[in-house]
Parts: sequence; structure tokens; C-alpha cells
Amino acid sequence: MSVLVTGGAGYIGSITTEALREHGEQPVVIDNLVYGHRETVATDVPFYEGDIGDKDLVGKILSEHNIDACMHFSAYAYVGESVEDPKKYFANNVVQTIRLIDVLLEHNVKHFVFSSTCATYGEPQYVPIDEAHPQQPTNPYGWSKLMVEQILRSYDAAYGLRSVALRYFNASGATASHGEGHDPETHLIPLILYNALDKIPSISIFGTDYPTPDGTAIRDYIHVSDLADAHILALNYLRDGGTSDAFNLGNGNGYSVQEVVDAAQKVTGCDITSVHSPRREGDPSRLIANAEKARNVLGWQPKISDIEAIIETAWNWHTRMTV
Ligand code: UDP
Repeated sequence: MSVLVTGGAGYIGSITTEALREHGEQPVVIDNLVYGHRETVATDVPFYEGDIGDKDLVGKILSEHNIDACMHFSAYAYVGESVEDPKKYFANNVVQTIRLIDVLLEHNVKHFVFSSTCATYGEPQYVPIDEAHPQQPTNPYGWSKLMVEQILRSYDAAYGLRSVALRYFNASGATASHGEGHDPETHLIPLILYNALDKIPSISIFGTDYPTPDGTAIRDYIHVSDLADAHILALNYLRDGGTSDAFNLGNGNGYSVQEVVDAAQKVTGCDITSVHSPRREGDPSRLIANAEKARNVLGWQPKISDIEAIIETAWNWHTRMTV
């Protein structure tokens, strides 16, 4: 059977596509290349350029391949932009997803692995955050993902669509061949590495007055290969008859922005120039995962949990891309 991968030319999607092949699966990619890069998908993987909301195209793909599951990565994912332009986020992340699922159901595809996010929790009431934590997003991006989670629950009850929502904490790092290259780049680790490579003059530290030990915001950075592994486990869980559920994917270690900067200085041997800036709107102070459920139910075992080790994989990839 084949697996439809939406957003398979993006950062996490392309690395999971690679992992699917390593596990003997046959991924089929759809990506509109708004943010994805065609060259990140191997030429022998069936690739369709277009929107997930294009019902004719998705119907054609499902007719041409023997697909039993969909991994849905494609979405807009800039928190700041979602605050400024929420309609872009709800139209793309919610409406287009509904259209995609309509066609999946028409073709009897009833396994769905969804890229959700810790941004669905909002400002934490306690850390580490488990899946039972109330979901009260602080930005439209988080709301758009939570809305899809809710839709998935209703569609399971009504139409038997079984799904796993994977709530990623901060995806980071790279494999030997694939890394994080957003345009525009807004993520902390790539920006720090651009500064180390003299591509940008400085990085901003957004907020130095958070209620954290050094005043900068704390996040749980999880290596992208570990995320890819979790998708394969979730797929097998659904195929084995697992019930719809949501799982956090994080290391359970929190690092402040300042600690990430310090770790990057160590890994790269470069001085990072940072400028203290106001908080970024919509950013909670501290997001740390309790991912025991993914370990216990899916058998997930993250392999790269140390922040320096994560940054090192990203640094290796960035330096190779710069040569
Ligand atoms: N951050 C920062 N400067 C930047 C980019 C990000 O201080 O140029 C902070 C951001 O406020 C957050 C953390 O770094 O606390 C991780 O942000 P990122 O954008 O990488 O991921 P997000 O948490 O938004 O998914």
C-alpha cells in the first residue's frame, strides 16, 4: 500500500518521506511548492504539484495509487504571520484540510496522521505538558491546528476516519541530506547558524523578561528524525487497529533561547551576535513536553535529545549547503 504525504517537499515532510522509504513504504507526495522544495523529494517518488484542496487532483492521485493512509504535513506555520493574517491560516490549514479529507473519505482512505503542535496548548498551566492539558491556543496558527484536531474527532465518530494527531514541540536539526531552510526563515536555530555563517549580522532574542531563570523563553527542541520515526510508528499503530488519539512529541527537556545561543556558540566555535528585542506576539513563556504517552503507546524512543547534538546535525547540514 502507498501513503499519501501532503507537504512532502517541506522540512518535516521530506524527512519523513525519506524515512518511509527506508521502512519499505511507498510514499506519494503532493506539495504546492509555496514553501516546499521540489529537489528534497527523490525523483523516483511519485510527486504531484498542487493544492491539497484541489479535489480533482487529490481524487486523481487516489485513483492512480493504492493508498491506505495519509500523512498530512502541509500547512502554514508562522506564528507571527498567523496573528497578522489569520484568514490565510484558517483558509489554508482548516478549509483546505477539510477538502482533502472529503476526498480521502470518498476513496475510503481512513488512516490519517496529522501534524499538530504544542501551540494548541497555549500558555501552559503546568509543565511538562501532557495531552490532558487544556488546549487554549494563544495564536491563530495554534487555533487552526486545534480546529482540525476537533474535526478529526467528529469525523472518527461519524465516518470512521481513524487519526493520530502528533503534537510537535520544536522541530529542529537535520539529516545527512535534508535540513531546515525556510524562506523567510524565522526559526531560532537556523537563524543562529546563519549568524555563525555571517549570512545575517545578528539574531534577535525575543523577550528577556519572561518568568524563566534567564528571562528568555523556554522550548523543547526535538530532532526531526525522531519526529519522522514517530510518524512511522503512528502509521503502524493505525494499521494495527489503534484508536484515534493525540500524542506529544518532545524530549521533555526545556532550553531557553539564551541556552540555545550558548550551545550553538559551543558547537560552531563562532561568537553569535544577539540583540535583545521585545517579546514576539503569541509566544508562550515555556513549552516542555511530557511525551510518556508516545513512548508507552507507540513505543517511540527519541534518539537525539541533547541540544548540542541537535544543533550539530543542523550545523553540519548548513555548512554543507554553504560550500
Ligand atoms: N526566537 C527568538 N529569536 C528569533 C526566533 C525565535 O528569540 O529570531 C525565540 C522564539 O520567541 C521562541 C523560540 O525562540 O521562544 C523558538 O522559536 P521558533 O520560531 O524557532 O519556534 P516556535 O517556538 O515559534 O515554534
